[in-house]
Amino acid sequence: MSSVLDLIGHTPLVEVSRLDTGPCRLFLKLESANPSGSIKDRPARAMIEAAEAAGTLKAGGTIVEATAGNTGLGLALVGSRRGYRTVLVVPDKMAREKILHAKAMGAEIVLTRSDVGKGHPDYYQDLAQAITQRTPGALFINQFENPANPLAHQQTTGPEILEQMNGDVDAVVVGVGSGGTLTGIGRFMRGVSPKTEMVLADPTGSVLAPYIQTGKMTEAGSWAVEGIGEDFLPKNADLSLVKHAYSITDPESFGAARELLRREGIFAGSSSGTLLAAALKFCREQKTPKRVVSLVCDSGAKYLSKVFNDAFLAQEGWGDRERFGTVRDVVINRFNEGSAITVSPGDNLRTAFARMRAADVSQLPVVEGERVVGLVDESDMLGALLTSGSGDAAFSTPVKNVMVSRLETISADAPIADLVPLFRKEYVAIVMDQSRFLGIATRMDLINYFRVKQQ
Ligand code: PMP
Repeated sequence: MSSVLDLIGHTPLVEVSRLDTGPCRLFLKLESANPSGSIKDRPARAMIEAAEAAGTLKAGGTIVEATAGNTGLGLALVGSRRGYRTVLVVPDKMAREKILHAKAMGAEIVLTRSDVGKGHPDYYQDLAQAITQRTPGALFINQFENPANPLAHQQTTGPEILEQMNGDVDAVVVGVGSGGTLTGIGRFMRGVSPKTEMVLADPTGSVLAPYIQTGKMTEAGSWAVEGIGEDFLPKNADLSLVKHAYSITDPESFGAARELLRREGIFAGSSSGTLLAAALKFCREQKTPKRVVSLVCDSGAKYLSKVFNDAFLAQEGWGDRERFGTVRDVVINRFNEGSAITVSPGDNLRTAFARMRAADVSQLPVVEGERVVGLVDESDMLGALLTSGSGDAAFSTPVKNVMVSRLETISADAPIADLVPLFRKEYVAIVMDQSRFLGIATRMDLINYFRVKQQ
């Protein structure tokens, strides 16, 4: 291979063996094996090459795109290898891992709101268009309308699937972000394997599956799965190719991705969870054995802080925790489950700081055995550093010397409103389950509790 770009495509296909596929056989094509880690490397390269061939992208030019992340990673990869500047407009609900990855490849990131729709100047596609217009030598890639996007899948992904399946495929389960995958694979199959049905896996809240089922546009909701689902009908999505459509909820998608890793050892992202959940439903509904293919669109590594993070699931209320309507519900990281982040009185400030930083919290309960003996927060720590100088000695100070030991405890069974007076006094609540420490409740935890409740 003369370049990493030669590694795009030719991804492996593996059969699912430990999940209930009814009478069917289910195969997954691991698009996560592409160099930037997703299915979007294929169209990214194709769209750049098409623009070069058409003369719309010239040496030293700028690539601008509105992207949920993976297209941006593909563009940044190909762009940096070919000497283009890459500017990506990214909605702010996207996983931090993708943004850091794109930046590390040299892309410039413009974060924008994810709570506004098409036509709003802050909507990511409108903003990308505006940036292109004011940047000389810039090209708006526009994956939603660019014909090189579906063509990449028609010429590579589709043929690879058919070949790896020895020419025998009954159904392909895909998601739609831009529609490139659906339209490309669907058009290819229509020509050479007309029996192959295209099945859409769509997040609940997206307008696509309801449109296919009813022919009507619905008001879009919101969903946490990244990369698929839309609030409009993309030009590149030829929905007439779709035979069956499934709406899959976020907890189902996240659960499927987690199960795929645990049972099969396949590390896939949130949209792959949606595809898998729909593929399994389709398989189990069949009366006759079928050969079904779906995709691992990208790697789970991009979603460790969400899909594979128990605290995130608990924050969203998707774990299997019972709800009581009391302070207990506000406590995310629980001591009895081993997930509370704590320090011991004898630990030093360096340890306390490392834990606070790693967990992105600004205070820690100080626990001795099963008892909470204090609380240490940023101002305790800063105070100690400022009085003893900021050198090595200060960071070696034991937590017990700086912690606050007059604690505000509250019962896990208390009404939620009882937290408010504590927070007004700038306290963190130490939540007790009878005489045992349950965990702490912060203002952020309470804000999140209200957010989830109003959904
Ligand atoms: N999964 C993920 C994670 C993606 O980023 C994308 C692209 N937005 C897709 C699936 C869907 O691909 P397409 O744009 O071809 O519809």
